Amino acid sequence: MKNSLLNIAIDGHSSCGKSSIAKDISKKFKMKYVDSGAMYRAVTLFCLQNNFINGELIDHQKILKNLHSINISFNYETKSEILLNGSNVENLIRDNDVSNYVSKISQIDQVRSKLISFQKEICLQKNVVMDGRDIGTKVMPNADIKLFITADIDVRANRRFQELLLDGKKVTYDEVHKNLSVRDFDDTTREINPLIKAKNAIVIDNTSLNFVEQNNIIFNIIKQKINESNN
Ligand code: C5P
Repeated sequence: MKNSLLNIAIDGHSSCGKSSIAKDISKKFKMKYVDSGAMYRAVTLFCLQNNFINGELIDHQKILKNLHSINISFNYETKSEILLNGSNVENLIRDNDVSNYVSKISQIDQVRSKLISFQKEICLQKNVVMDGRDIGTKVMPNADIKLFITADIDVRANRRFQELLLDGKKVTYDEVHKNLSVRDFDDTTREINPLIKAKNAIVIDNTSLNFVEQNNIIFNIIKQKINESNN
């Protein structure tokens, strides 16, 4: 089968496996994988490292003043790991502290504009699979395939909890569950670019699907699209 240069947008709730799906698609169809959530996480990490966040207080002025010194890039050679000002922060951005603040930082208009222009620039090259919250609606409104992934929150919390335990992170199931419900709420109710299903997105609810079943469904959708565009 000849590959066409498709762009694929994957949106959905936190911890429903969007990145794993995107990575599997990238491997199977030889596409560039971009984790847009990692960009918001890297900005949040920068804010924490520079003390722009103190407890409940987020110093918006300092963040805006220093936005220009945040340089984000990806090393596509090493499974699209993210670099913050040249340092690989792929692991650090998954810390609890970052997870707890990221949905607040991602509400800042200027942060979104900066990251969205970078994301749009990457998509121009085509052959990109990108996951996030506003990819099908704002970043790639013309994506060839749009997927909206979701799953029951208890199932998501349990999967995420197990992942974090395997990674050696010290968290409880209740903390993970609370973090997901707060992020779901923040992401779906924020004023700018909330998480909503794009009109032409295909919904995949993976509550009772395993990886293989889910990948079969998604790979078939992609193969069909490739066939259509080759004809
Ligand atoms: O995808 P992930 O869960 O790592 O994203 C972390 C957070 O970044 C989300 O909860 C959301 O607040 C924000 N985000 C966003 N827009 C995107 C991707 C992520 O606002 N396109």
